[in-house]
Amino acid sequence: ASEAKDYDVIFIGGGVAGYVGAIKAGQEGLKVACIEKRGSLGGTCLNVGCIPSKSLLNNSHLYHQILHDTKRRGIDVGDVKLNLKQMMKAKDESVNGLTKGVEFLFKKNGVDYIKGHGAFVNEHEVAVSLIDGGQTQVKGKNIVVCTGSETTPFPGLEIDEKKVITSTGAIALEEVPKKMLVIGGGIIGLEMASVWSRLGSDVTVVEFLGQIGGPGMDVEIAKNTQKILTRQGLKFKLNTKVTKGDASGQGVKLDLEAAKGGKNETVEADVCLVAIGRRPYTDGLGLENVGIEQDERKRLVIDQEYRTKIPHIRVIGDCTFGPMLAHKAEEEAVAAVEYIKHGHGHVNYNAIPSVMYTNPEVAWVGQNEKELKEAGVKYNVGSFPFTANSRAKTNLETDGMVKFLSDAETDRILGVHIIGANAGEMIAEGTLAIEYGASSEDVARTCHAHPTLAEAFKEAAMSTYSKAIHY
Ligand code: FAD
Ligand code: NAD
Repeated sequence: ASEAKDYDVIFIGGGVAGYVGAIKAGQEGLKVACIEKRGSLGGTCLNVGCIPSKSLLNNSHLYHQILHDTKRRGIDVGDVKLNLKQMMKAKDESVNGLTKGVEFLFKKNGVDYIKGHGAFVNEHEVAVSLIDGGQTQVKGKNIVVCTGSETTPFPGLEIDEKKVITSTGAIALEEVPKKMLVIGGGIIGLEMASVWSRLGSDVTVVEFLGQIGGPGMDVEIAKNTQKILTRQGLKFKLNTKVTKGDASGQGVKLDLEAAKGGKNETVEADVCLVAIGRRPYTDGLGLENVGIEQDERKRLVIDQEYRTKIPHIRVIGDCTFGPMLAHKAEEEAVAAVEYIKHGHGHVNYNAIPSVMYTNPEVAWVGQNEKELKEAGVKYNVGSFPFTANSRAKTNLETDGMVKFLSDAETDRILGVHIIGANAGEMIAEGTLAIEYGASSEDVARTCHAHPTLAEAFKEAAMSTYSKAIHY
């Protein structure tokens, strides 16, 4: 057993957390291996998550826009047809290009890529069942667990990825379903509902809570978003619980119950997407051989420096605490390697942006109004609508607004919430402002180019402590 090859650090899982950590470790001169069982690097994000979903969101938007939003722009188009096969091919090409790119970066930074399933043998050794057959064993001074997450199943509805699908099926459907039901109006539900609705499906989203977008989204922004998505053709049933699913017939039937008592109904569709959240994935990892703790939600328990009870075994990304976001995993990966190499690292969990890539996009960073109220923080609100922004007017994309929340006493920015075209790019400025502890006046006194959507950002900041010029 002591034949095992020695490493300074081993990453179990080659998703965003694992691959970024491995590259960083290579750059730091550490001897590093990354074990991945999928046969391709980049994890959920590159293979079946962020990247393929954004390809479909972009191209389905273009299709929808060409169908419905060209006349007023002075463009008369002829026969517009969907070629779903080609749209899927374009998606696959983006994915393949990026995953191959990571493999190249591994070579460039001296990372050993071990293709197989890793399981702890003991606190320093990991056995790998190789994809190509056979076994190998590796030994690490440090081991970083980054095995990611999986879809939370809906009891009683068996996933076949054709009729009852997760996001993985939703990025690979072979035809546009006539009717589609989505359980869960969070980020996955809304992004995927947008894609298929734009391509022609009649989509209904069933959400247990009274608002869409999940708990992080500001209530005012969520209401605004729901209005716009409804206008685009999406249907919503809020405050509604799915109590039972039945996929034994031709389509899928769901029994619904109003969350606070009320009428029950049964709805039917050809395809049902289960999007009620994701949970940590640690199957077959041999956690029992090292005694790493999990909490009631299966998250691996760690301290501030990502250490488990066994200090040289760390955990980062979706399989531990915090938002399940690729950029959060990436930040943790860099910090974890810095802890290993230098003894210190840094992630500001208050400055992690969220973006929902619907049209318009929704993005936020920091706290929302509900959170500030609950914490008893006194705050000022500033906002600016895109209807009053010159670039939005020229682009005929005036839906949405920018909203600033700043400390009532110090004017320090506490949260920024945006719904509008390019919100996902614009939120970077809000994130930087929060990272640097800026006040809304700092942002408002910074010159922004004209005409840009970012001027709405500046003016929202201005209206937080003073008055906007253009509204
Ligand atoms: P993962 O990416 O899940 O990677 C874990 C890897 O570990 C997997 O490849 C798995 O095969 C491997 N593995 C597991 N166990 C073992 C083992 N024992 N041995 C070897 N390998 C193992 N986030 C965003 O920030 N922006 C987005 O736009 C976005 N869009 C998304 C869209 C969808 C449809 C989904 C599902 C997710 C999306 N996410 C998005 C979330 C993002 O994908 C995750 O937060 C991110 O992938 C987490 O990275 P990770 O490395 O922790 O885990
Ligand atoms: P989510 O937690 O965002 O949303 C799940 C929603 O389902 C919630 O609103 C919840 O109230 C609802 N729900 C739960 N049980 C229900 C039931 N029985 N009936 C009706 N509604 C129910 O989870 P998700 O959308 O599955 O996404 C999972 C993770 O993936 C998230 O953490 C998200 O951050 C990440 N993700 C991010 C992006 C992005 O950054 N653009 C895109 C996709 C996924």
